[in-house]
Amino acid sequence: MPPVDSGLPTPPGAANVAKPSGAAGGFKVIDWAGFSGAVTYTFDDVNSSQIQNYETLKGLGVPFTFYVWTGRAEANDPVWQRALDDGHELANHTMSHMSGDSGSDTDAATRWLREKFDLTPWTMAAPNGASVYTGIARTRFMINRGVSNNLISPNDSTDPFTLPTFIPPTGASTAVMDEQVTSARTAKKWRTFCIHGFTGGSDSAYQPIPLQAFVDHVKHVKDFGDVWIGTMENVGAYWRGQKAVTSGTTMMSGGETTYNWQLPDHFPPGKYVRVTVTGGTLKQNGVPLPWNPRGYYEVALDPKSVTLSP
Ligand SMILES: [Zn+2]
Repeated sequence: MPPVDSGLPTPPGAANVAKPSGAAGGFKVIDWAGFSGAVTYTFDDVNSSQIQNYETLKGLGVPFTFYVWTGRAEANDPVWQRALDDGHELANHTMSHMSGDSGSDTDAATRWLREKFDLTPWTMAAPNGASVYTGIARTRFMINRGVSNNLISPNDSTDPFTLPTFIPPTGASTAVMDEQVTSARTAKKWRTFCIHGFTGGSDSAYQPIPLQAFVDHVKHVKDFGDVWIGTMENVGAYWRGQKAVTSGTTMMSGGETTYNWQLPDHFPPGKYVRVTVTGGTLKQNGVPLPWNPRGYYEVALDPKSVTLSP
């Protein structure tokens, strides 16, 4: 069988961890796919300073999430197809960017993204942080990003439909942004950022920041080597997937233990979590999972079940 690509990034550490050979047990999802913490950078409103500086953003070599206000002319810029092709996430920021919606304006943006890019948006960002989108997102998305800052922990009770985020102040320095990630890394948690644009843009982006300050900041985070820089879809699916597996049920039969879980509604297919055990053989659909010498097994979430046998 060819190896399956979990889509998860390679964590730090050497690939020299021996396969656990103790008693079967100790099943546990590892936090943040094996990284010390996680950060997600999101960009709102398809502002011109994002478009003008796309090549610089792309040059950082890490995936970003762009929340597309689909009713704006800038949403038609060819840069967004390139962003998608480059591995970034395009997701829903509604069609008209209103503080009130029955759901129809949100659905119009989803349709637009489907038709233009042939993609399903799994996450959204609430325009103006309006609270009406918490309920709208619950029946449509895996995550809705809010506008209040907080750290997010593995298996915590943070509301995925008002997910916290840090909005850098106007003119934010590299140090101000670094501190947000350093504190997340120290606490082994996830921080999301919400950025509207860069200083000098022509369309009055909210609280613009200097491009160079952001570039230097991302380089610092990359230099840590142990912080997962991922899209809202990917880090969010890991966070929600871990909680789903951890809060699932356990069945023992004939010496085998089967772990079952339910996935949240509107959850993207093809996602994985990384797990450790003290020993035994993990199988999904009857097929033994390969041990990764960086210290984990990769478990597909879609089967909603994994079995550990001695
Ligand atoms: Zn916005």
